[in-house]
Amino acid sequence: MSLVRQSIPVARPVLDRAEADAAGRAILSGWVTQGPEVHSFEREFAAAVGAPHACAVSNCTTALHLALRAAGVGPGDEVVTVSHSFIASANAVRYCGATPVFVDIDPATFNMDASRVDAAVRPRTRAILAVHQLGMPCDMAKLVEIARRRYLPLIEDAACAAGSEILWNGRWEPIGKPHGDAACFSFHPRKVITTGDGGMITTRHEDWDTQFRLWRQHGMSIPDTVRHHASSVTFEEYPTLGYNYRMTDIQAAVGREQLKRLAGIVARRRELANRYRERLAGRLPQVVLPHEPEWARSNWQSFCVRLPRPVDQRAVMQAMLERGISTRRGVMCAHQEAAYASEPWHCGDRGPVSCVCGPRRCRALAHSEQATREGLILPLFTQMTDVDQDEVVDALAAALSLCAV
Ligand SMILES: *Cc1c(COP(=O)(O)O)cnc(C)c1O
Repeated sequence: MSLVRQSIPVARPVLDRAEADAAGRAILSGWVTQGPEVHSFEREFAAAVGAPHACAVSNCTTALHLALRAAGVGPGDEVVTVSHSFIASANAVRYCGATPVFVDIDPATFNMDASRVDAAVRPRTRAILAVHQLGMPCDMAKLVEIARRRYLPLIEDAACAAGSEILWNGRWEPIGKPHGDAACFSFHPRKVITTGDGGMITTRHEDWDTQFRLWRQHGMSIPDTVRHHASSVTFEEYPTLGYNYRMTDIQAAVGREQLKRLAGIVARRRELANRYRERLAGRLPQVVLPHEPEWARSNWQSFCVRLPRPVDQRAVMQAMLERGISTRRGVMCAHQEAAYASEPWHCGDRGPVSCVCGPRRCRALAHSEQATREGLILPLFTQMTDVDQDEVVDALAAALSLCAV
């Protein structure tokens, strides 16, 4: 293997002096975890997405775990979700002792096919976990209708979707309001805004928010902040099994600066996505462009095209890498990983029995598997220049002519 100089990465966070100074301020303040910066970040994030409550946590995976717990998901239950997602979505279901029931995706949007959800709901179903994949809002109008009709909580995995919007009763609203019962965000550097690691849960339910605050800090009845300011001695209690899912004030201080940039970051990403569309449609019409429904506005956390069959995905990626351009394959499928080979999961289309197709293949998840095989995530980041982008398109064109079978 030769060392490859990477001139164009697949993603790059927008971080500079403002974030470094904010982290420095938090450190020098002497209060470095779950203090005033976390409190302000929560208020500002809630205001940005129009949510009544926002609770900061250590990352989106812990956010999902708490949201599912608040929804009442426990051992022996089932949660209807997608396999075609980052593995953390399905793992969070298993942390509750529950079994994920995978429904296939709509091949156009890479998102949960809402028309398959009803058939996947069974007596043990306790919640629906929908993913706004790669920042593209999923069909919340249909999913909310199903969730209400079946009396099921609806959790949104909005890990990638800060700054995405959905048309709701005639108005554009941010993802995270939330439109279901709770929405979970990630601030990992691969997402559009970052705190290093970090997460946020927005919810419409005050009692859920109270639960999240207990659980994230060991189930402690009186938080540090309250004891710190108390004028009389108080002893905390631990009424419930909690976790350490705290966000630090250093992360939150960075997050507040990132939030100020969010609108600008998304605007530039949308410009670049449009430019990819124009260039690729003109030059490589065989490449399938991502579909944005008329009721959705993606933040383009990722720009995922489909390679025409029978092009070899890995060979295309390798050829591009050799020109210094980093790409990623399409979104993974949890059910194809060894972590799911012997663990229980069901596919949604087969009635009350386990999938019998085998660990890495499932006929009921054909669109999911195909999207993993054919998807190619192209570089897209705020600082990317038009010249960078043209280089990516040139490299893809060259790779496709090389790799044509
Ligand atoms: C990134 C991601 C997660 C996990 O987020 P972390 O903050 O890394 O825990 C979960 N779900 C989806 C869809 C993701 O893309």
